[in-house]
Amino acid sequence: MKKKLFLMVIAVLLFALTGCSSAGGGKTSGKESKGFVGIAMPTKSAERWIQDGGNMKKILEEKGYKVDLQYAEDVVENQISQIENMITKGVDVLVIASIDGKSLTNVLEGAKAQNIPVISYDRLIMDTDHVNYYVTFDNYKVGQLQGKYIEEKLGLKEGKGPYNIELFAGSPDDNNAYFFFDGAMSILKPYMDKGQLIVQSGQTKFEQVATLRWDGSLAQSRMDNILSAHYTDKRLDAVLSPYDPISLGVISSLKGVGYGTKDKPLPLITGQDADLASIKSIVAGEQTQTIFKDTRKLAEKAVEMIEALLSGKEPEVNDTKSYDNGVKVVPAYLLEPVSVDITNYKEVLIDSGYYTEEQIKN
Ligand code: BGC
Repeated sequence: MKKKLFLMVIAVLLFALTGCSSAGGGKTSGKESKGFVGIAMPTKSAERWIQDGGNMKKILEEKGYKVDLQYAEDVVENQISQIENMITKGVDVLVIASIDGKSLTNVLEGAKAQNIPVISYDRLIMDTDHVNYYVTFDNYKVGQLQGKYIEEKLGLKEGKGPYNIELFAGSPDDNNAYFFFDGAMSILKPYMDKGQLIVQSGQTKFEQVATLRWDGSLAQSRMDNILSAHYTDKRLDAVLSPYDPISLGVISSLKGVGYGTKDKPLPLITGQDADLASIKSIVAGEQTQTIFKDTRKLAEKAVEMIEALLSGKEPEVNDTKSYDNGVKVVPAYLLEPVSVDITNYKEVLIDSGYYTEEQIKN
């Protein structure tokens, strides 16, 4: 009997203690802070996510919010436990850029049970009804801009060709990768059908050209294999790359077989994110193009959504049709991507203060 009573006392004490610690970091901390925001980012290995997370944290803290920002180094289980911890700590809202969009269904049940709203950041969270809003760029347009660049530079509209092209896509667990690829194919496929673009490897389906976790070294070895199997006596004229580190991997592979000289110039190579290394590569005349997505604007938009949600207002959206996550169409705010190459990088990236001239030079 005594033992039972003792256990009950312990249980009550524990309950009080955990209640306290969650209150300290969470809801009631709203007394000192305007609210507690949990931000789960995929990895620090890509420049853009460091900026996304850093920008959001900075703006939120300046506005008086408390922030828990976590990176999961592209390990799905890490991200799940980071989100679980945020829920336990009592965050008021979750902002998540998923690693694998389909892996968060269970953990978000926990957020739903606590009425914690969820904003899907840049990448759509799939297979759950508990995602309230989506803030991203126009992902289909990203792909179209890559495709249009190739169309324009090769003079495909004017009927030029045939040219050899190889295709790369992003990670199959990232919904964006399909939008990028489909957007690019909407421009390029008609030229493939007409024979103005030839994919010598024959690899044209998303599953064949996808790059798990956007890994540049995987893309590099796929390019190595393609070059040795199909291009020993042919020239490669263009590469559709969805992401700057993939572009750089492809360039290394091409240089390995002698591209990048006067007699054998590199093919046209697209990219995405305007990573510093790729801007340097563009300035050096290697990578041809990238897509700039201003992460400062995305972070600002996410903060606007957070503030609206926490004050009981409806966040602004501009797309209620495109992003079906398998359970519902998630209301979204889409920002505009911008195509960047040697002709406009100064105006787009330096004049806007995204990079300094010194950063690009060094
Ligand atoms: C993002 C891209 C990024 C890629 C790899 C995508 O979901 O939209 O901006 O290049 O992930 O991190």
